Amino acid sequence: MSTHAQMPGMENRPEQRHAAFPFLDLKAQFASIRGEIQAAVNKVLESQNFILGPEVRDFETEVARFVGSEFAIGCASGSDALLLALMSLGIGPGDEVITTPFTFGATAGSIARLQAKPVFVDIDPSSYNIAPGLIPAAITAKTRAIMPVHLFGLMADMDAIVKTAEAAHLAIVEDAAQAIGAGWNGHAAGTLGAVGCFSFFPSKNLGGAGDGGIVTTNDAALADHLRTLRVHGSRNKYSYESVGMNSRLDALQAAILRVKLRYLPAWTAARQRNANRYRAMFIENGLETYIQFPADNVHQNHVYNQFVIRLPERDAVRRHLQQAGIPTEIYYPFPLHLETAFAHLGYSKGDFPQAEAACREVLALPIFAELTEDQQASVVAAIADFYGHKITC
Ligand SMILES: *Cc1c(COP(=O)(O)O)cnc(C)c1O
Repeated sequence: MSTHAQMPGMENRPEQRHAAFPFLDLKAQFASIRGEIQAAVNKVLESQNFILGPEVRDFETEVARFVGSEFAIGCASGSDALLLALMSLGIGPGDEVITTPFTFGATAGSIARLQAKPVFVDIDPSSYNIAPGLIPAAITAKTRAIMPVHLFGLMADMDAIVKTAEAAHLAIVEDAAQAIGAGWNGHAAGTLGAVGCFSFFPSKNLGGAGDGGIVTTNDAALADHLRTLRVHGSRNKYSYESVGMNSRLDALQAAILRVKLRYLPAWTAARQRNANRYRAMFIENGLETYIQFPADNVHQNHVYNQFVIRLPERDAVRRHLQQAGIPTEIYYPFPLHLETAFAHLGYSKGDFPQAEAACREVLALPIFAELTEDQQASVVAAIADFYGHKITC
């Protein structure tokens, strides 16, 4: 392209094949529901009712019903959901919150933003979630809460975490940003802690047309507090009972998300079908000896926000796939305890060996609902090619 020729640094790049399909095809999803989305957006535009109002209220009711919680309170993002959850529990300076270093930055960021201290605990190497057996040793007199993350759509070991939290009188704040609809022994993500936090960032299983989030709770007093915290700590106009934020879910987002929520069960089933298909294809081609599959427990309902495989040759495999036009991502390349933002916590390399190893070895493959069998076969074929296997699928 002529514009590229003028961009500095582009001239000597080696030829790279364009991805044959995207890592996440949001355009395919939009094409399947275009008319309904446009009608929902138009309805809000005609009403000119943009702040809270009926769309947000109805969406909150529908999410509460979907998740199985008593209350749901919309807010501006998943990050704000975490922040509001901690604020509603009164967590602040000097308090400690136990969480995982193998997650998106907002998890520990929400704790640090309130001048509380994130206390990291290493992960389980097969689920990538916080290792519950290591939590008790991290509890101190200052610990107020545990913030497990249901990473990639697989719930953390909530039996053990709930038991530990109850014994030590700690609140649980679930970071369920990647796990809407996920289950654990018949319980849904966002119903087992004091507060559950969800994100509607476009790449989540239920993604909006921009940022959005929601908090769920079964506690009426917490729900009431959360509803005031998201509007400046105000219950009645220009009267403030606490220092809150401006963090509302836009009516436009709520209207779009209400349409998409109706499709979520079908989209989740498609992600699970794709996950099973990957497993079958890898096994058919004798690749299961090279690759660690995502944990798959019969007691869990994994909703596969990501399909993450683990392999020691991760970086070489990723380069090989890139050259074959296969898109992949790395969630996450760096553990939070070694990031500059959390340097003040005083952790060093080697403190959480499982999280550090996962950062070197995980690779996310495309798993979106509209992914075709042919596209999956091309992913598996490119990995088989790396290992010198002949492909049979
Ligand atoms: C996406 C995500 C968040 C933050 O959600 P935003 O809506 O992007 O602010 C928090 N935690 C985890 C684990 C996430 O994946």
